[in-house]
Amino acid sequence: MDAFNLQARLKERQQQHLYRQRRTLEGAQQPEVVLDGQRYLAFCSNDYLGLANDPRLKQSAIEAVRRYGVGSGASHLVSGHSAEHHALEEELAAFTGRQRALLFSTGYMANLGAISALLDDQSAVFEDRLNHASLLDAGLNSGARFQRYLHNDVDNLASRLGKATQSHKLVVTDGVFSMDGDVAPLNELAQLCHDQQAWLMVDDAHGFGVLGERGAGLVEACELDQQQVPVLMATLGKALGCAGAFIAGSETLIEALIQFARSYIYTTAMPPAVAAAGRQALSIVQQEPERRLHLQHLIRRFRHEAEVMGLTLMSSQTAIQPVLVGSAARAMALSASLLQQGIWVTAIRPPTVPAGMSRLRITLTAAHTDQQLDRLLHALERSWREVSDHD
Ligand SMILES: *Cc1c(COP(=O)(O)O)cnc(C)c1O
Repeated sequence: MDAFNLQARLKERQQQHLYRQRRTLEGAQQPEVVLDGQRYLAFCSNDYLGLANDPRLKQSAIEAVRRYGVGSGASHLVSGHSAEHHALEEELAAFTGRQRALLFSTGYMANLGAISALLDDQSAVFEDRLNHASLLDAGLNSGARFQRYLHNDVDNLASRLGKATQSHKLVVTDGVFSMDGDVAPLNELAQLCHDQQAWLMVDDAHGFGVLGERGAGLVEACELDQQQVPVLMATLGKALGCAGAFIAGSETLIEALIQFARSYIYTTAMPPAVAAAGRQALSIVQQEPERRLHLQHLIRRFRHEAEVMGLTLMSSQTAIQPVLVGSAARAMALSASLLQQGIWVTAIRPPTVPAGMSRLRITLTAAHTDQQLDRLLHALERSWREVSDHD
């Protein structure tokens, strides 16, 4: 008996070269990793500022464990809301220039909670078609009229908004797109939303900590305030090196989420030690702008030298630097060849990206050195030649 057709479905996945497997890390998240017993130089982490293994974050977490123990013990509304959570929320609100911020246990839950709390069957939601899966899932499950607009196409969105008859309209976009590395035209989107009386929600998971003069993200770089972007979401698991996420916005928005966001209400609060580490990370983001500057330097160098090598890059100025390779099989061959040279880069295939648009998704971090970037570039050149010879 193959209940629910599971065996058949798994076999089909395998035949399509789309079967996914996990690799087991035997140490901290950092450029030099140990994977299944072997050492590799990794270019696939979202730890953009190199904070996941920072001694100061570890110390903050350890001290908080001594004081608060490990588990939070309950949801925020029951008895799990600690002083560390509260202080982190206040610091996030101040840093992003919003009235308040609300912590969620993951970014997926923040998006699900916020979107479903705002929308009902009388509203309409408009999403960029390349939005993160958590935003698309949330929109689809919200009960609202759901539409996707063409990627970063403000005119396409405008014509859809113009035709909508619902009185409550929410436009949702990634700040930095996670598979392409390009950024949303936030100023134009904010203007359009203002004109059309829609609310704009920005998921800045890949911009927060990295973009903007102070590291407050793409919304800071675009100088957009709480009126222009009423719903700001960012995560603490990427550049901040921790885990969890938050929504920032008006007093009214946050109170409404506390009352109505089911993924906030019905789940255990993140461990207080994670919040304590998050506070430490937030302070480092503000005090060490040199991390952002070094990352910008590596991005410019990578783009210049990869272009000289003739690789096809995408229009990304962020830490996400995809190299387009075409077929899923070719992407897998390149990634395997790089692994043999001790370089770990993930191949991204359909259905995450469209067919024929498979890519190596290279991510750079402030923890990488110039020498490590040299190693990546040399290995890429060699693997590219090897795989092209086999074509
Ligand atoms: C990673 C990510 C999320 C999910 O955040 P988690 O904290 O990992 O659940 C949401 N949106 C975007 C754009 C992301 O890249």
